[in-house]
Amino acid sequence: MAVSAYDPENIFAKILRGEIPCKKVFENEWALAFHDIGSKAPVHVLVIPKKPYVSFVDFSARASEDEITGFTRTVGHVATALGLDEPGYRLISNVGPDSGQEVPHFHVHLLGGRRLGALVS
Ligand code: C5P
Repeated sequence: MAVSAYDPENIFAKILRGEIPCKKVFENEWALAFHDIGSKAPVHVLVIPKKPYVSFVDFSARASEDEITGFTRTVGHVATALGLDEPGYRLISNVGPDSGQEVPHFHVHLLGGRRLGALVS
């Protein structure tokens, strides 16, 4: 899949620069986690890397091993801190137009807090 150029004016880039607010859950050197404004579950948190990647495709290709490890562990830490490990949760990352990706900055949706329905609609 071709990866388009990163748009530094996308809304998550603005959140990372502090230009627009978010309801922050957690932050470290690798990632920022915040509540999704259009929550689809009792817990719906987005985890985004600090560095500019368009999508998972871009992140998996260009991020260093330290970044990949740091980001992945942060997602797990946030899920644990939110109390989601039991009875479980869903991780989703939309990539490109067919997935409905709206914001072109790589992000992982963490959804939980209730029994979730079918994955694909
Ligand atoms: O995966 P996708 O790109 O479609 O998801 C983007 C998500 O970002 C949406 O769930 C939307 O509600 C969320 N969003 C947000 N805060 C904003 C803009 C969008 O939480 N300021």
